[in-house]
Amino acid sequence: MNPLLEKFDTPFETPPFHLIEPNHYLPAVKEAIKEAKAEIDRIKREVQPDFANTIEALDDCGARLNIVTGIFFNLNAAETNPEIQKLAREISPLVTSHSNDILLDAILFEKVKAVYEQRDTLPLDEEQVTLLEKTYKSFVRNGANLDDTGKQRLREIDAELSQLGLKFGENVLEETNKFELIIEDKEDLRGLPEGIVEAAAQTALENGKAGKWVFTLAYPSYVPFMTYADNRSLRKEMFMAYNTRASKGDELDNQDIIRDILRLKDERAKLLGYEKYAHFVLEERMAESAPKVLEFLEDLLQKSKPKADQEVQELQEFAKKLDGIDFLEKWDFSYYSEKLKKEKYEVDDEVLKPYFQLEKVVEGVFETAARLFDMAFVPNKEIPVYHPDVMAYEVQNKAGEHLAVFYADFFPRAGKRNGAWMTSFRGQKKSATGEQRPHVAIVCNFTKPTLTKPSLLTFNEVTTLFHEFGHALHGMLADGKYESLSGTSVYWDFVELPSQIFENWCYEKECLDLFATHYQTGEKIPGDLIQKIKQAANFHQGYQTVRQISFGLLDMNYHTADPSTIDDLFEFEQKAMEQTELLKPVGGTLMSSSFSHIFQGGYAAGYYSYKWAEVLDADAFELFLEKGIFDKATAESFRKNILSAGGRTHPAKLYKRFRGRDPKPDALLRRAGLV
Ligand SMILES: [Zn+2]
Repeated sequence: MNPLLEKFDTPFETPPFHLIEPNHYLPAVKEAIKEAKAEIDRIKREVQPDFANTIEALDDCGARLNIVTGIFFNLNAAETNPEIQKLAREISPLVTSHSNDILLDAILFEKVKAVYEQRDTLPLDEEQVTLLEKTYKSFVRNGANLDDTGKQRLREIDAELSQLGLKFGENVLEETNKFELIIEDKEDLRGLPEGIVEAAAQTALENGKAGKWVFTLAYPSYVPFMTYADNRSLRKEMFMAYNTRASKGDELDNQDIIRDILRLKDERAKLLGYEKYAHFVLEERMAESAPKVLEFLEDLLQKSKPKADQEVQELQEFAKKLDGIDFLEKWDFSYYSEKLKKEKYEVDDEVLKPYFQLEKVVEGVFETAARLFDMAFVPNKEIPVYHPDVMAYEVQNKAGEHLAVFYADFFPRAGKRNGAWMTSFRGQKKSATGEQRPHVAIVCNFTKPTLTKPSLLTFNEVTTLFHEFGHALHGMLADGKYESLSGTSVYWDFVELPSQIFENWCYEKECLDLFATHYQTGEKIPGDLIQKIKQAANFHQGYQTVRQISFGLLDMNYHTADPSTIDDLFEFEQKAMEQTELLKPVGGTLMSSSFSHIFQGGYAAGYYSYKWAEVLDADAFELFLEKGIFDKATAESFRKNILSAGGRTHPAKLYKRFRGRDPKPDALLRRAGLV
């Protein structure tokens, strides 16, 4: 008996974690793939393909596979062990090759295309039109319309790109780890916090340099060094090492790799009929086109640059007064910025934490959801969980009807990945046999309670909890017909709207008063502390905004340019970032050669989306500020048009339905204190 292949005999058909053993996964995945293939074969035999028997059927296909792999990969992230990891190396390729088989199936594509070609005559609603287009495009964007030579070339390009991306990342990693700043004189450690010094001594010990201190270019070492080290020339040394990674003309140099990646991406886009790689990417984004993204970035730059210049000017004066610095250099910015922030708005985490006891913050999150969307969270001990720390709730609507299952997994342990995320064990959909409601989870790494002290969160952890809960709402309130368009299955530059908007409630007194009370005295968080939190959050926002814009512009320039014209990367980068420079450029440095987001990760022609999502969340939240942060009508409109709508139509349309107009950057500029 394999419980993964039986009907789940648990409340709401939740995964029977108490019955699942690691050796159940592989046979279940294989069986589920077999089932899915049989469903695909049935679609391929349709003599008269239509919307229901082909497009809807395809969306419905592989239901068991989704559940089994959902459980497996969620556990591999939240509760893994060497056995599960080993299985993952076997299961991942099976799942990937199964989805490739579908997208490369010429007969299946023929059926899909036959339906797509009748689209103007079919009586389809909005959601069905989206499903049809999305399905058709997923094949076409993978080369289904190409002849055999074209298809083969596309495979070659993809294989080459994936190799180049890996190599790019390996080079960055090796360059990051290779460099060591070895400190022998204690004097050179001045300014650094004790914990950082200890870590550096530990690194030295591990690297065979006992009694010394070693700093590397890895984030947890580099960032504190640049922020706190008093020794200016050592800061410069670190800065230069960091900003010349993978650009020194040796075997770890990434410049040729970048040129190859850009050339291949351009070829791939042209092969599929797009003008530039950016056009290929942006076709499936809310932002829609390269000119629109560029206009967005330029507009934001124009509006935030004056404040950024002012901030740099103020910091220059501060550094002059403090240390007689005549020209603020790039390796000075974080250092003086931190000192100025401390002077102006010091908020100590230790002062704030007693107001944020985890249980109360969770109650506060639930209460916020209750006031906005009439949701109730009922703890349910009958629902199996994968670790005793995990809590399971049944989520109900106002009428007490079942909405979703919600799992909360808050504490770190061996076997859990770092960071915080939302995921789901099962999506939402409606079919002829009834509706399937979602099973959603948030996984975090918050400080565990001790025998004497409850779990007290930093403010950053509070916003993280609200952020992930916002994603969870998107999943729990889903109300679509098709799983592939439901919940968080939306365009990439739209998916952070529900999460980021929810963070805004943490800065509002009316919301904080619901839960932010001192765990010992019961006193509400003082208003001036809230004020300070807000000011600290906005500190140097001008500078940070311009910096993000500069990366966005560099990314867009690379992916809209003709790659044959990109020769000297130093020159190209400097030109692309020229108008965003706030401090004197430093010769010989290159950011591109370690810009892993766009050359290794999935952010190519997508870096703008960080700022894009902020514009959306600030603009959307301003409506709540106008009407009241718990205003029922505004919340209902947000639920209906955004949270429940998933990807049923283009996000620009959904947004307009909620806001009554297109998004404007003004609210973000106001919130960040830039105007
Ligand atoms: Zn997020």
